[in-house]
Amino acid sequence: MRMSKTEAAANTLRSELGFQGGAVNEKELRKVLERKGYFLFYYPFGNDSFSGAALQDHNVKVIVINSSHTLGRQNFTLCHELAHFQLHNIKNHIDGITPINKEKEKEADYFASCFLMPHDEVIKFVEDNNSKKLDLITAMKVSAFFRVSFQAAVIRLAQILHIKKIPEDLLNASPVKAARLLDLSPELYESNNEIYWSSTSYILLAYEALQKGKISTGKFLKMMEEIGHDGYEVLDNLKGRD
Ligand SMILES: [Zn+2]
Repeated sequence: MRMSKTEAAANTLRSELGFQGGAVNEKELRKVLERKGYFLFYYPFGNDSFSGAALQDHNVKVIVINSSHTLGRQNFTLCHELAHFQLHNIKNHIDGITPINKEKEKEADYFASCFLMPHDEVIKFVEDNNSKKLDLITAMKVSAFFRVSFQAAVIRLAQILHIKKIPEDLLNASPVKAARLLDLSPELYESNNEIYWSSTSYILLAYEALQKGKISTGKFLKMMEEIGHDGYEVLDNLKGRD
């Protein structure tokens, strides 16, 4: 079955990236992906704008995330874009802008959902919490533990618990209010407008290439200039670190 293939791909990637049981922390995932050569770019493009993009130039894979959206949604988007690379070998895709087959979008969502909330992990979590049901408290706990939006948690719980119709009041619940009532941190349900990009890993990779003689000093300086850094200054700082 197609869906189970997607789930298997998500589980495989999870273990390949070194995530065992439990939740995937976004900071940890960021580091792991950067070590694998991904470049990540977070920018507040506005609440009504696209959620993310998967771009590839030669061997460089770039994932763009709109940090105007809530942190929970950003975490999901990151894995959605990862799915486009893993499953669809996509070169240039901006979600909600580049036309794409709806099935691929659904598949990327399902992959993200399985990657962040693996079936067995969710079952274990709800059993440990004695709440194997789809209600506000369980969904909030799953959301907070697995670091996803409330909505993503509701959808995944409904899938895993084989619930065909999600109660209307649950879909309309405010996670910010619920977080306050349950004494959970609201950070996942708010935007953080983060501006971030993987320049550190880019600089370190370039420096390593320079040290190994794979690129010339001229090339290194040019690369630094392209990302808005003074190459001589970067070299001084890095030499000081050695
Ligand atoms: Zn997409």
